[in-house]
Amino acid sequence: MYAGEAVETGSVEDIFYRPHHPYTRGLLASVPRLDRVSDEELQAIPGNPPNLQDLPSGCRFRDRCSQAMEECLQRPPLWTTGGGRTSRCFLPMEGGYIAAAEVPNGPGEPVETAEVRDAGAAAPGDERGESAA
Ligand code: SF4
Repeated sequence: MYAGEAVETGSVEDIFYRPHHPYTRGLLASVPRLDRVSDEELQAIPGNPPNLQDLPSGCRFRDRCSQAMEECLQRPPLWTTGGGRTSRCFLPMEGGYIAAAEVPNGPGEPVETAEVRDAGAAAPGDERGESAA
């Protein structure tokens, strides 16, 4: 959850070992690892969360995201891989890029309808031209 909305959902393994959303990755980089000794400094997400009474347009994480691009001025839908994993981010997802049609916005929240894209289409901003597997 970020700024009052779900930004990524998936299995525990996906979220902890293959996080997709830049906010999820930032959170995990800020947490000490108890399973290994390291001299690496913990990473902090720059900036502060937005004012919930004056939310920015587009992606709510945009001002803090190191991967923000022009498209992020638009509000990202909750994309899905089709395997139950979702991410509210325009970056291509591992294993393919399929847009959600109707997916829950979070527990107890209304269903959101998003644009449906061809599973084989390249993601916006994906200069590698990858397609869905
Ligand atoms: S939609 Fe854009 S700004 Fe938002 S998390 Fe993804 S890359 Fe960052």
